[in-house]
Amino acid sequence: MDSQMRIRSYIPKFSLVTLIILVLFVIGYFSGFRAGFDSGLQRLAADTIYAEYYPVADLVTPLKGGGAQKEIEYDTLVNLIKTTIHPQEWNHIVNIHPIPESRQLVVFQTAPTHAKIVDLLTTLRDNYELFKQNMADGKCAYCGNAPLPAKAGERCVACSQERHDLTADRPSAAVLRPY
Ligand SMILES: [Zn+2]
Repeated sequence: MDSQMRIRSYIPKFSLVTLIILVLFVIGYFSGFRAGFDSGLQRLAADTIYAEYYPVADLVTPLKGGGAQKEIEYDTLVNLIKTTIHPQEWNHIVNIHPIPESRQLVVFQTAPTHAKIVDLLTTLRDNYELFKQNMADGKCAYCGNAPLPAKAGERCVACSQERHDLTADRPSAAVLRPY
């Protein structure tokens, strides 16, 4: 009688515990599987190379004095992107190609690198706007020190950058600094 009661009370407890363990195991298994599946998808997405088109007319077009005669060149901007973002990573597949007809760059890269390129182009545009504003205000384009060096090529007393002549030039590597 005693032993039978012990067995009776033992069986439901065992079953309940087993059930809970089973449920937890199943939840754990599927959430683990789900997490693995998701991270696998994320890895796949991060590794997938695709083309993105970047309008860069404002970063490659001469400002003044060049007009249609002055040739637009993309190498400065392309090289700046390649040397700033993952310099070791570029090759004949993962690459940047200018499209002169639309003044765009088509870039074959992964999503994380595309995001970095967007950030870099934004920084360049911000710097460029500040640069032009400083020039317009008669200050050193780079550091905002006044007065501006007297002639193009002379160095700023504060930051020792050469004065850049905006009137006859496109944004150059010196202007398009990613910092
Ligand atoms: Zn300066």
